[in-house]
Amino acid sequence: MVCGFCSTGCSLNIHIRDGEASNLSPNIDYPVNDGMACPKGWEALAPLDANDRASVPLIRDRQTGEAAEVDWHTAATTFRDRMKAIIDEHGPESVAFLSTGQICTEEMAFLGSFAKFGMGMLHGDGNTRQCMATAVRSYKESFGFDAPPYTYADFEESDVIVLSGSNLCIAHPIMWQRVLKNERNPEIIVIDPRKTETAMQATRHVPLRPKSDLVLYYGLARILIEKDLLDHDFIAEHTSDFDSFKEHVEAYDLETVVAESGIPAEELISLAELIGSGKRVSFWWTMGVNQSYEATRTAQAIINLSLMTGNIGKPGTGANSITGQCNAMGSRLFSNTTSLLGGHDFLNDDHRQKVADLLDIPVDRIPNQNSLAYDQIIDGVKEGKIKGLWVIATNPVHSWIGRENFTETLDQLDFLVVQDMYPSTETAQQADLLLPAAAWGEKDGTLINSERRIGIVKKVAKAPGQALSDFSIFRLLADTWGCGDLFKRWISPEAVFEILQELSEGQPCDISGINGYEQIDQQGGLQWPVPKGSEKPESQRRLFADGKFYTPDQRARFVFADQLPDPEPPCDEYPLRLLTGRGTSAQWHTQTRTAKSGVLAELAPKKNHVEIHPDDATALGIVSGENVEVTSRRGSILIQAYLTTTVQPGTVFIPMHEETTNRLTLAVFDPYSRQPSYKSCAIKIEKGPATGLMS
Ligand code: SF4
Repeated sequence: MVCGFCSTGCSLNIHIRDGEASNLSPNIDYPVNDGMACPKGWEALAPLDANDRASVPLIRDRQTGEAAEVDWHTAATTFRDRMKAIIDEHGPESVAFLSTGQICTEEMAFLGSFAKFGMGMLHGDGNTRQCMATAVRSYKESFGFDAPPYTYADFEESDVIVLSGSNLCIAHPIMWQRVLKNERNPEIIVIDPRKTETAMQATRHVPLRPKSDLVLYYGLARILIEKDLLDHDFIAEHTSDFDSFKEHVEAYDLETVVAESGIPAEELISLAELIGSGKRVSFWWTMGVNQSYEATRTAQAIINLSLMTGNIGKPGTGANSITGQCNAMGSRLFSNTTSLLGGHDFLNDDHRQKVADLLDIPVDRIPNQNSLAYDQIIDGVKEGKIKGLWVIATNPVHSWIGRENFTETLDQLDFLVVQDMYPSTETAQQADLLLPAAAWGEKDGTLINSERRIGIVKKVAKAPGQALSDFSIFRLLADTWGCGDLFKRWISPEAVFEILQELSEGQPCDISGINGYEQIDQQGGLQWPVPKGSEKPESQRRLFADGKFYTPDQRARFVFADQLPDPEPPCDEYPLRLLTGRGTSAQWHTQTRTAKSGVLAELAPKKNHVEIHPDDATALGIVSGENVEVTSRRGSILIQAYLTTTVQPGTVFIPMHEETTNRLTLAVFDPYSRQPSYKSCAIKIEKGPATGLMS
């Protein structure tokens, strides 16, 4: 079955002893990982055995802070009575949910459908907003649908691999292994302000100044146009708005781009020549692009490079956003949050009617408005408009950007429900009601990986105590709410998968031709689309081979905009720029699960650390290993200094895995995707106390 951490979607064989999972090994026959796994995958079973698993529902007394164990009936009726009381008094806009990219697709669909069609909620979002919203918005505008076009074989079939804001070696190590299998002697270009592990392995590192990426890509486009390194036929036959784009990038002359990016002119020209050389060029990006205040237009600037050079729809090409969480793609298509089930549109009357007919529910049960985005839900809580919040398998007290005072924000709620496999997360500790959930490995369902491949997860272990699968919790709550009749067919994950297949029919993500879980399992996962009547689909498939996109005129669009001002550049008081990101391949996000593995803990740094360039450290009188105080306009943390030339002078780097990191970050958002801009804010560093509590 597929791994439940990252979006790579490796398959793991689980070894069973006495009916329970005892060990695992990577699947050698699966087209994703070819017998490999990263440390998280090898340790995937360890978090199940943690001694702080949630095993019984808990109701917390706010006065005393004490949590009392209750049975499921009490938990479900408490959920119903308190949520209904809030809705009755304050209306449906007063409750919301925050979900995840970590549970199964069928569970996401049940949650979103129960909340919106059953409970009458209008607002729900997921932590996929924090990683993939930019890619979603970019693809929708450029291609007409949220459609990552590639297959992992493209890593092996490229002549030029351009990685933007992507530290593949540690963030997606098995994808990096696919790069290493490339026998075409590819140029590997890493565009990143830091000399990351991947940059060190690349044939070329482009160490641009932080936040100059949009300028760099527009500058490269201008050079390609000037040198006529374009695929004129592809532009003419399969795209629109190129002439306007050409006019737009006129402003990005070499002098401007050199001045802003810090990359020498000859390097820029050579890079453009490589991209325009007519070889197979693939463009890949991750959070270095997605998590920015102008992320969508930056991602689209990368898409534009692939379109203008005709590098899409062919082996070894593509404008390829790499996903973060194991089921972010499932969330994007089927969670009923930002899009109506199956990539439909809440604002489209025909789409609402189609979904209502297929689900056999009244159409007025389907909201005709879009949900608030994650940050707007949090603002709603702060403003007292949202009074009931249901958090599922995510830990925003740790992970939300600029999260100072976040615990106080949650305290403002009348009712906080947290559904999680651990009662010990920072968010779960504040819950009025904790619903204990089974983990990956303790339930059935499907996940969709970065390359659109649907993979199976299976129940190979028993959940502890009374913990239930998320699916069973949604079923119980729907019945208790009194809307179980709306979900008569939603009796098992596989039954819901069939419903999702019906909902997908006719959409770009059409999976109506899949013959149940068995076919997915037997064929090593299946990439969408698989419409009805499909012959046995090939193992590795990419989109747009026919040059037809999902826009009304079937042409891809060149989308572009002027730069936005940097919301918080370094200044006299805060002279350094903080970058954040993944620390090691042994750590996953808030470490809720990876910290439970002794093996992974050994592979991760023992202390939180800030990476500082030696020039800056010398100027500040700081030596490696000493305590320093890092301060932004929002907060201060004590942390250990680590001197390294992998960061540029004037910038520092702190891994995102420590709870303290987001006390510093600045809560600004891309205006189109509303994805948080985690990657940049202004800070200062001072020598800290010689001893004392380190963050
Ligand atoms: S690369 Fe991702 S999917 Fe593969 S084993 Fe590691 S965490 Fe799991």
